[in-house]
Amino acid sequence: MPEQPADLRSELAAATRILASHHLIGMFGHVSVLTEDPRRYLVCPGAGARKDRCRASDVLELDLDHEFGPGLPLELYMHSEVHRLKPHIRSLIHVHSPALVALAAMAKVPSDLLMLHASFWPATMPVWDEADLVRDRAAAQRLIGILGDEAITLLRWHGAVIVGRTLHEAVFRAILAEEHAGPRGSAPPPPGSGAGNVARCGGSPNPPMTTARTSVTGPPGRNGRGTRPRCRAGRGARRRGRS
Ligand SMILES: [Zn+2]
Repeated sequence: MPEQPADLRSELAAATRILASHHLIGMFGHVSVLTEDPRRYLVCPGAGARKDRCRASDVLELDLDHEFGPGLPLELYMHSEVHRLKPHIRSLIHVHSPALVALAAMAKVPSDLLMLHASFWPATMPVWDEADLVRDRAAAQRLIGILGDEAITLLRWHGAVIVGRTLHEAVFRAILAEEHAGPRGSAPPPPGSGAGNVARCGGSPNPPMTTARTSVTGPPGRNGRGTRPRCRAGRGARRRGRS
């Protein structure tokens, strides 16, 4: 028997609170689920809402063509476009959790599996390398293309997107992905792998240069060459905001 919208609304509210309790979403970050009507989906409220107190009445029901507006997640279109392009994916979660953000700053993301329960971890991690947030449909469709058939993609210097065939699967994967990313981001890299060296803002005066190339070069100086490396995770993220 298909789930009734009211049940699904309560489930999404519970999922939002669970993700908040694991510090995966808070002021920022969001989760959606497709309804039995493939043109409509439910999404948690956007920035400013207390995710740890999310109730069924707070959950928003939208159609795939709904445009972004106040109260909605700023990166709303990643939800509408995954549900449009890949309806077998019923849930998408976007997080800015610490371990996954750290992993997203690495030049080469390690693929070895440390936890059996993270078997969804891709052999080659997809990475969204564009500097801006995913704020329109075209960008969201490119992101879903990068995700491909994987369960997770990292967003450079920003966070991750995790998907599941059910809301439950997406929530489990998000929790396990953050747990799995912790040791992946802190373990010494294999010799010669170029991995490791997570970016540290305001840390070492000589930051390691094996962070992602898209984010270690500053704007051209007056001599036409790049200025000192800068850390987008600090200045850029503040400038661009989060969603
Ligand atoms: Zn975001």
